[in-house]
Amino acid sequence: MQRLIQSIRGMNDVLPDATPYWRLLEDTAREVLAAYGYQEVRLPIVERTELFARSIGEVTDIVEKEMYTFTDRNGDSLTLRPEGTAGCVRAVIESGLARSEQRLWYQGPMFRHERPQKGRYRQFHQFGVEAFGLEGPDVDAEQILIGARIWRRLGLEGLTLEVNSLGTPAARAAYRAVLVDYLRAHFDQLDEDGQRRLEGNPLRVLDSKVPEMQPLIEGAPRLAEYLDESSRIHFEGLLEMLERAGVAYRVNPRLVRGLDYYEKTVYEWTTDRLGAQGTVCAGGRYDGLVEQLGGRRTPAAGFAIGLERIIALLEAGAQPRHHLPHAYLVVAAAGAETEALRLAEDLREALGGLRLVVNCGGGSLKTQVKRADRSGAELALILGDEERARGEVSVKRLRQDAPQEQVPLAALGAYLAGVLGLAQG
Ligand code: ATP
Ligand code: MG
Repeated sequence: MQRLIQSIRGMNDVLPDATPYWRLLEDTAREVLAAYGYQEVRLPIVERTELFARSIGEVTDIVEKEMYTFTDRNGDSLTLRPEGTAGCVRAVIESGLARSEQRLWYQGPMFRHERPQKGRYRQFHQFGVEAFGLEGPDVDAEQILIGARIWRRLGLEGLTLEVNSLGTPAARAAYRAVLVDYLRAHFDQLDEDGQRRLEGNPLRVLDSKVPEMQPLIEGAPRLAEYLDESSRIHFEGLLEMLERAGVAYRVNPRLVRGLDYYEKTVYEWTTDRLGAQGTVCAGGRYDGLVEQLGGRRTPAAGFAIGLERIIALLEAGAQPRHHLPHAYLVVAAAGAETEALRLAEDLREALGGLRLVVNCGGGSLKTQVKRADRSGAELALILGDEERARGEVSVKRLRQDAPQEQVPLAALGAYLAGVLGLAQG
């Protein structure tokens, strides 16, 4: 026997038992984004390495040690995208879209060479949302509301929203100087990463998850005290909008993001049900990035959902049923196959979204009802000899204990619409 070639560590297959959860999440996110007027874009998975170095930042975990970078046959340095914002910004500049207001979303795999563990993979998937040309906190609030609506539609509870403001780059530079002084004074308490970042990217020290570093981080001077006026007004505006919209949040003054392009608003949605990998969605404002990548200065804001982590939450809850048939048509009357196909076609025509399986290949009433049950359908519609003679079907509920009902064929569409909550017409 040949040796089995295995998948790459941290890169997973999604098999049929999991795809329904993915569909549910993707369909829900897509519907919610459409409800807010966001348009889909599809972007390449490979970009020039320079794009990520210049946007995410040279001194970040992602660019320093997590990227899948290779030289192609032309000798160009290319990278599998570790996130979606940089490519999206490149695309809107290149296409000219950035010249007008845009609300966009994209979806797909991202690649980071991290240590694989639950909720952390080397190929993972994001749903990303970006808005361009809109400056106020209203867009930040809108995007937070989009997240909240997606969680609600998925029935996810217990997600916490943490928000913070990083201020403008100028305000951050002032804070940075103070922070560097503080960190220098405690140099021997810094771990190796911290010591290295002290020079290149001191704010990232605050993002360290290393337990031994936490007292030092707790004692550090606070960014909030160095916020500039415009950032403060922006942040207060956002918090007020969230309050009025009834979105609960917690201001976390230690929240900094792992990517350099954020300024002003940053936020994370977290859960305590996934251990250390508890951030399911992260975003904020990046008003300087379009210019930094060669476009005209354009305010922008966005977020990305980590799909694997949401899937893990969904899998812990109720099983989705949206991929299972609503009904299974049992064709027990002799020679009624053609009539059954016709009936099924009429029902599909009459009811938008109806998922109906017609029994094929005959079989006794008992066998067919068994198949109906195994299909996962809610209802068995039984067309037997007696039903056929009376112009009816019998409806058997497969997931509830309820008496069988007789429904005239002429009324079947309306009956199913009522029971299944489907629209007629
Ligand atoms: P973390 O702090 O968990 O490493 P991050 O700050 O690196 O996250 P972002 O780059 O902001 O994350 O990505 C947005 C979201 O994508 C994260 O909140 C998370 O849900 C998801 N994500 C990031 N990296 C991974 C990964 N390696 N595997 C699975 N999901 C990930
Ligand atoms: Mg990370």
